[in-house]
Amino acid sequence: AKELGKNDWQLYSPHMDSRTYKSFHLEKGLRNAIEQNEFFLHYQPKINTQTRELDSFEALIRWDHPEWGFVSPGEFIPLAEESNLIVKIGDWVLERVCQQLQEWKQLGLTVVPMSVNLSSKRLLKPNFVEFVMELLERYDIDSSLIELEITENSIIHHEEQVKKMMTVLKKQGVTFALDDFGTGFSSLSHLQKLDFDVLKIDKTFIQSVVENEKHQTITKSLLYLARGLNMKVIAEGVETRAQLSFLEENDCPFIQGYIFSKPVCIEQAIIYLKAKYLE
Ligand code: C2E
Ligand code: CA
Ligand code: CA
Ligand code: CA
Repeated sequence: AKELGKNDWQLYSPHMDSRTYKSFHLEKGLRNAIEQNEFFLHYQPKINTQTRELDSFEALIRWDHPEWGFVSPGEFIPLAEESNLIVKIGDWVLERVCQQLQEWKQLGLTVVPMSVNLSSKRLLKPNFVEFVMELLERYDIDSSLIELEITENSIIHHEEQVKKMMTVLKKQGVTFALDDFGTGFSSLSHLQKLDFDVLKIDKTFIQSVVENEKHQTITKSLLYLARGLNMKVIAEGVETRAQLSFLEENDCPFIQGYIFSKPVCIEQAIIYLKAKYLE
């Protein structure tokens, strides 16, 4: 549903399947969401497994539409990716995160690093480095406080360009995490070619790690691999005691998941910052 002319009505025809119909409306809503102030962020803590200390946060976007209520990012982010709206949305998230870190600093809080999910579509626009540097400057944020999470799958066709952008930003002190690791097509080749600081083991492995022996083997191997490559490694989607125990036994240093906390609002994030430890 891009450039629409006189035949707009066709889009509403009963021949259109309901998924397309819904997407069309969602996309229309998305176009106004920034101006209408409908987005906000939640923050999910990542925990140091040994000390139970708050290590950092991941910023996750939320959309509260006046009619539809909350729309899940799992639903609208893919649409935003297709329609290029992801560039604007990504910039909004990054600026919001910088603002938030500055606010926390001004409140006298000891801030922790924050990771932001970044579409490779945005990363590959020519002005991305300048955009990031300008934000860090404007909000007086140390570059080591910003980590960019990129999913494996989004890199596939652009490895060389991604590598270039990463190199420039890493020189400036920004770190990079490889998100959803293990779900992509050429995981090992990405690790070899690109210089990621952090590896996030995808939650599909973690969620069945207790019952599924193969997933146990894969998870152990990924932990071993990350350690060998000197990467920080995080298991995401940890929900149960049993999953946590497995990860502890296998020396997984960092954990993110409902077992410690769901993504939370600003007020709760501040409580975590002040408490420093999560139980
Ligand atoms: P992701 O980057 O893999 O983020 C982790 C997702 O897992 C989040 O879902 C989080 O709420 C959820 N999660 C965390 N712990 C647990 C757990 O213990 N169990 C389960 N079942 N889920 C857990 P969310 O917030 O719905 O986001 C879904 C996806 O949407 C994200 O996956 C990410 O790919 C995308 N997304 C979210 N915010 C942004 C954003 O600001 N920009 C971009 N480009 N993508 C975003
Ligand atoms: Ca992520
Ligand atoms: Ca992930
Ligand atoms: Ca994911």
